Amino acid sequence: LERTFSIIKPDAVGRNLIGDIYHRFENAGLSIIAARMLHLTREQAEGFYAEHKGKPFFDPLIKFMTSGPIMVQVLEGEDAIRRHREVIGATDPKKAQAGTIRADYAASVQQNAVHGSDSVTSAEREIAYFFSDEDIC
Ligand code: ATP
Repeated sequence: LERTFSIIKPDAVGRNLIGDIYHRFENAGLSIIAARMLHLTREQAEGFYAEHKGKPFFDPLIKFMTSGPIMVQVLEGEDAIRRHREVIGATDPKKAQAGTIRADYAASVQQNAVHGSDSVTSAEREIAYFFSDEDIC
């Protein structure tokens, strides 16, 4: 079984979509094995998105990600990283397949409802950024 890291971003939390999105994860065979709600500080958001520092969308992205509470979770399942990204859909909602979370709920490339790790290396880094071993069931 593989693990991946997932965020429900402030736009989706603010629209009461946590339950809907968890339902989609579970229906896709992804089990929630750790979860927490938090309001990111600027420092936490900048550290999480450090690879994007200096890009034109970086400052607006940090502002958006700190604009309200988020849900962070660890998902476990067979081929979890790829499956999670399938359920999420493409970063740009205009390119996201019908029926994906972003096709249904993302307002723009920035306000795109969710995040999902894109590789084993980033999943490990991102899980460790928010959870310790004792948090994971
Ligand atoms: P995520 O990592 O959130 O699943 P991703 O891997 O599809 O998304 P990245 O390229 O890692 O996308 O970008 C991280 C986040 O930064 C995106 O989810 C989006 O919120 C924001 N972002 C990326 N590119 C742009 C852009 N061109 N304009 C505005 N925001 C962007």
